[in-house]
Amino acid sequence: MSDTVDENKKPEESPHEPPRGADFLKELMDKLGGIPLGAIRLDGSPAQSQRPEPPPKPAVDPLELVKKFSFRPREIRDYLDRYVIGQNEAKKVLATAVCDHYNHVRRCLEDPEVAKKDYAKANVLMIGPTGVGKTYLMRCIARLIGVPFVKADATKFSETGYVGYDVEDIVRDLVKAADGDSKLAQFGIVYIDEVDKLASSVGDGHKDVSGRGVQVNLLKLLEDSDVRLVAQNDMMGQMQAMMSFQRSGEQPPSAMSTKFILFIVSGAFGKLDSLIKRRIGSSVIGFGAPQVSDESNGEEENSALLKHVQTSDLVQYGFEPEFVGRFPVRVILDELGVPELEKILTTAENGVWEQYVETMAGYDIQLTADHDALCRIAEEAVKEKTGARGLLTVLEHLFRDFKFELPGTGIRELKLTSGMLENPQKALAALLEANHEEADRLSYAEVSAFAERFLAQTGFRLEFSHEASLKLVSQAKACGKTVRGYCESQFKDFEYGLKLIAKSHPERTSFQLKEDDVENPQQTLTRWIKESYENG
Ligand code: ADP
Repeated sequence: MSDTVDENKKPEESPHEPPRGADFLKELMDKLGGIPLGAIRLDGSPAQSQRPEPPPKPAVDPLELVKKFSFRPREIRDYLDRYVIGQNEAKKVLATAVCDHYNHVRRCLEDPEVAKKDYAKANVLMIGPTGVGKTYLMRCIARLIGVPFVKADATKFSETGYVGYDVEDIVRDLVKAADGDSKLAQFGIVYIDEVDKLASSVGDGHKDVSGRGVQVNLLKLLEDSDVRLVAQNDMMGQMQAMMSFQRSGEQPPSAMSTKFILFIVSGAFGKLDSLIKRRIGSSVIGFGAPQVSDESNGEEENSALLKHVQTSDLVQYGFEPEFVGRFPVRVILDELGVPELEKILTTAENGVWEQYVETMAGYDIQLTADHDALCRIAEEAVKEKTGARGLLTVLEHLFRDFKFELPGTGIRELKLTSGMLENPQKALAALLEANHEEADRLSYAEVSAFAERFLAQTGFRLEFSHEASLKLVSQAKACGKTVRGYCESQFKDFEYGLKLIAKSHPERTSFQLKEDDVENPQQTLTRWIKESYENG
């Protein structure tokens, strides 16, 4: 199940021409009198049903998991602890909000009377800088409870929906993330990032009309509204719905309610802290955030201020009161410092470091690191100011040349030390030098491998003498190429040339190459062709 669908672009339609896909298809269906298209034969009579077997059901029906939702907040928190480092408050708040929501869903499914009662959903507003785990937390929760999850950036919603991404598209994306199962999708989680960009600009008196419009559109989703499963201007979707109707004979649901969808919105909310500070004034000192000029403490102070956020602050920030009111659960995520980043490297399950170990394993290289090296990486990553994403940036930069140079050298182990981090280039050069004999041996074998591929592809055998192979290896090395790449470019005309020779000498299928012959393979080939004509 894919869980991120945020790249979808709709074909642009002229706003002057109303989309007619839906009406056109409805008309067509009506004309067919409700008979599935596949059930019509050319003579117009209904055909024998030839419906394909439905695909086998997965072992655990995710819908059943929702119906029997039984997690407790502490259990969800414990699960999150395995993957997400720090953010303890957020874990608690989210775990509780998710349990509130899915307990309510379960009770509504069990007892229709409960569903009739008014209920304010536990939609969540997350405030925190980039890369600190906001999306990751929700992704982990969705995976644990088995519901589909989609994420989109608020900035790509357009107010009208004619051009660009309409807020309702995210609900349709949820159905896609549930592999088309709208019954499951109605219990999914929708995550909208960068929601702070929907606020009217702070303090400059300018109202951002389109952001406001999107807030209003989102409001409808946050309440219980029905969303058409196929957008009016989505011709492809209409066709697919029709084909599925043809196949199964069952009319797929045309709309889905948003009543049980859990909405999470998030953003960095820059400058919100100064609004809060202005409101609460110097009492900020009362909750233990010292007023210091040091940058990291400044960040702690900002985070402490944000924990005092109130609806009025968000309204002043530029949100509609009704919109803010739909997010009763608010949670502030902290910046990640060196200790957290280091733990993400060393202890988080499925973490960034594990990913790197796997990447290197893909090249048959076992990657390990000493503790100091990981600390140094965390220190570098903090400077990036992009949270845990900084780790990836630092690691990518560090390992780029290692990943490029080591594969194929026979080096099977790479142990990262803090010393290596001082000058990675030097460390790499030393590693290659220490291993050059093995690398040469492997390069030598690459010449035979090239000859084998050449034989398989062309039917001609190139027999390189020992000296010729050594020469090719040293020539490839001198121009910084792999033996494979070097041979392929040096002998690129050989297939054609040898075929010419074979025309007059069909018995010749093997060709010996000595050291002098590989000095300039083109000259050698020309000589062979000339000789073959003279002899022929
Ligand atoms: P954002 O806060 O911008 O939504 P993400 O949750 O997408 O950031 O984090 C990006 C990646 O960084 C995640 O996929 C995860 O691998 C890693 N990451 C971020 N925060 C944490 C954390 N607290 N613990 C472990 N990994 C994290």
